[in-house]
This record gives sequence, structure tokens and C-alpha cells, in this order.
Amino acid sequence: MLSRMPDRPQLAVRRSRIHGRGLFAATAIPRRMKLGEVSGELVRVAAARRAMRGREAIHLVEFDHRWALDCSRGNDFRHLNHSCRANCYLRLIRRRVEVYSRGAIAAGSELTVDYGETQHRGGMACACGAPGCRGRL
Ligand SMILES: [Zn+2]
Repeated sequence: MLSRMPDRPQLAVRRSRIHGRGLFAATAIPRRMKLGEVSGELVRVAAARRAMRGREAIHLVEFDHRWALDCSRGNDFRHLNHSCRANCYLRLIRRRVEVYSRGAIAAGSELTVDYGETQHRGGMACACGAPGCRGRL
């Protein structure tokens, strides 16, 4: 579980309609709020891509062409699924990954980010179901 902070919204990991398990808002979240930071291990991009090839889920956030964060054993933010109409976004600051809400998010909503904004290039089908879904990510 995420550590409890009094001024932070509560998040919960639940079964997702998009993929596997997802991260959900257990309480309403205001717009532009920092939800926390993705934890993981700093890895080299080339090796990490080879290791991830063929896997169903993406747990890699690439900072540049050399370094990425492998969050496969990180905190609950590793369950953030992709949506082509994401309600959250990632801010990459040096080698840290912060998670923010875009607009206000209702309690019970699944939190999503747009992987397309994080330099990820994969050949996976997108199942987000959002209007305007790009179909692949
Ligand atoms: Zn989509």
C-alpha cells in the first residue's frame, strides 16, 4: 500500500477493465494535484527493452535514450494503465517520475496516463476504450 499522507488522496489497486490490475481513486481528487512518485530501479534502456520484449505489461519509464526507470517491483503506481484519454500525467524530473492529476477525478475512477508521452515505443494493442483511441501504444 501507499504510505498515508494527510493531504494526499487515497488510492487503491483493483481489477481494471483496461488491463490486469489498475490504480483507482478511492476518494475524489482535485485537478493538478501531485499524487506521488513512481518508485523503481534505474536501468539502462537497451537492456531493459530486451528484458521487457514480449511482456504483456509495460513497467518502464524512459528518461532519455540511455536511462529508464523499471517499476516492475516498484510501488502501486506501477499499476497505472495507459489511456489515450488519460486523467493523469507523469512529470519526469531528472531521474524521478512524479504523478499528477490532469482534471478533477471522481472517486472510483481508474487513474490512467498516456504512455505515448513518455517516449515508449511498443507494438501493443491499446484496450483503453476511450473515444479517439489510437489503437496501439
Ligand atoms: Zn487507447
